[in-house]
Amino acid sequence: MCGIIGIISSKEVSSRIVNSLKKLEYRGYDSAGIATLVEGNINEVKCEGRVDALEKDISKFNLKGDIGIGHVRWATHGKPSKINAHPHSSEQVSVVHNGIIENSTILKKLLEKKGYVFKSQTDTEVIAHLVTDYLKKNSLKDTIIKVLKKLHGSFALGIIFKDKNDLMIGARRGSPLAVGYGPNENYLGSDSYALKSMTNKISYLDDGEFCIIKRDQIEFFQSNGIKVNKKVMNLSKEELNYDKGDYKYFMEKEIDEQPSTIKDCINEYVDKYNNQINIYNFPWNISSLKAIVLIGCGTAYHSCLVAKYWLEQNTNLDVSIDIASEFRYRKVRFKKDSLYVFVSQSGETADTYAALELCKKNKMKTCAVVNVVESSIARDADLVLPIYCGQEIGVASTKAFLGQMLVLYMLSLKISYDQKEITKKTYHSKIKNLLLLSNSAKKTLKLDHKLLKIGKVFAQAKGCMFLGRGYSFPIALEGALKLKELAYVHAEGYPAGEMKHGPLALIEEGMPVVVIAPRDEHYLKTMSNMQEVIARGAKVLLITNKNKDEIISENIWEQIEVDKLNDELIPFLTTIPLQKLAFYSALEKGYDIDKPRNLAKSVTVE
Ligand code: GLU
Repeated sequence: MCGIIGIISSKEVSSRIVNSLKKLEYRGYDSAGIATLVEGNINEVKCEGRVDALEKDISKFNLKGDIGIGHVRWATHGKPSKINAHPHSSEQVSVVHNGIIENSTILKKLLEKKGYVFKSQTDTEVIAHLVTDYLKKNSLKDTIIKVLKKLHGSFALGIIFKDKNDLMIGARRGSPLAVGYGPNENYLGSDSYALKSMTNKISYLDDGEFCIIKRDQIEFFQSNGIKVNKKVMNLSKEELNYDKGDYKYFMEKEIDEQPSTIKDCINEYVDKYNNQINIYNFPWNISSLKAIVLIGCGTAYHSCLVAKYWLEQNTNLDVSIDIASEFRYRKVRFKKDSLYVFVSQSGETADTYAALELCKKNKMKTCAVVNVVESSIARDADLVLPIYCGQEIGVASTKAFLGQMLVLYMLSLKISYDQKEITKKTYHSKIKNLLLLSNSAKKTLKLDHKLLKIGKVFAQAKGCMFLGRGYSFPIALEGALKLKELAYVHAEGYPAGEMKHGPLALIEEGMPVVVIAPRDEHYLKTMSNMQEVIARGAKVLLITNKNKDEIISENIWEQIEVDKLNDELIPFLTTIPLQKLAFYSALEKGYDIDKPRNLAKSVTVE
């Protein structure tokens, strides 16, 4: 959460900083700011709200300078306001920060005693004063080492100095940070996406590292000041070219990309010639595994929930799932024959990362299912299974969710086959079915004309419910989450069989209810639950799959039919109309679909 950018050049930087901030806006968008160094002075422009507003303000000031830093904020300490917007400056330095300084209150008191005056309510401002204080008696490098040691919590930092026109500093602990290399200029950014218009040469800071960035050189150091060498990576063509194309919203584009992201991911794992799933470098003997624990947050957690059904169905492992922010603080009994799987799109989700670190401390086997392979979670896990869905910019996750489910499904098939829980014939037939998925997803996308109209009803609802059994229960949770995130409509996902134990009391005349009921073993039971809500006045949108039999139920308001595939694959297809439903509901209300209120992507704070 929150995006930072820095440029040191021999040309003016403010317009390029603003352009990069626009790319980083998905990470935070409650306020924005920029600071540049002009003839020994730090000039700041900050505002509440979006980067567009910042751009207007900058044009009034004619902001010059060939070194600068910028920030888009997702407030943790202090409300979104101009005064709390970053950069935060002292008389010596200006700082942008992503993360939380947990001991900021103590540090602030100490600094106030020394006479430093604070202007904002943020935790970040202590960094500016602390650096200023240490600079009085220390070299620049020693100052950075000492200040970073003093800070508790997580950060990615960009710092510029009033009296140094030849460098800026980057540092990270917990939150991600990349640097980029250009012609007689260099850059700093929360991700490579922010830098790609300037360079395709990138390095990532490892946890605890800092760097001194000059126009012609970048030096990297461990937290104790020991120099480290860094690998320079080239951004791929896909990474360089990723933009909205003809779409108005990234989310819409990302939903539509799903047939091809499914195909790409399958191509990475399925050996079509031998009809098998390849997971190279699997570092453990699969037959020795007894349990698997899947851990994630939000949408990623829902993918774990679906995978629980697959793993229980296909393997002999004990399967448990956990929400990372709960897992990390519980007294977990670690067992050495368990595999711990961490699911996160960005690979930087703070709670999931902390859960991984906890497992590593307890010497557990760890596996990361991530989109960003250079991320902290990917770097620290024993095994990395990328989801290969390309950059995801829309804050509400869509194609990454399908990618996470896909990788977990293929992992479940590999384990079950290696454990001899399924026959070769079944294994091959499941893989064959998997190869049909992309095409069925493409057909499902075509159903969206209906959802435009249905979305108008959901947009106006006071509240609504999403119901399903089996694999469709986690999909109900995900559908409800998408509607909450995008259309700000109160929505509950529930196991269809649980309604009568309480939530049925919420049903009233005209309440929209989504029932996800593919023709699987639960179909008839869910149909009965559907009639129970219809009998109490609910307006039901049924999401099912095609079958030659008639739907055996009456009084359904609307119906969407996805393809008939192997039951295990249906969650992929039933998810797509729910993504579209949330999209159209938000569109109807005129909301900012890629940047829902109060949220941000890549949740790097606890
Ligand atoms: N804790 C800082 C603030 O509230 C930074 C938050 C962020 O990472 O967006 O300003």
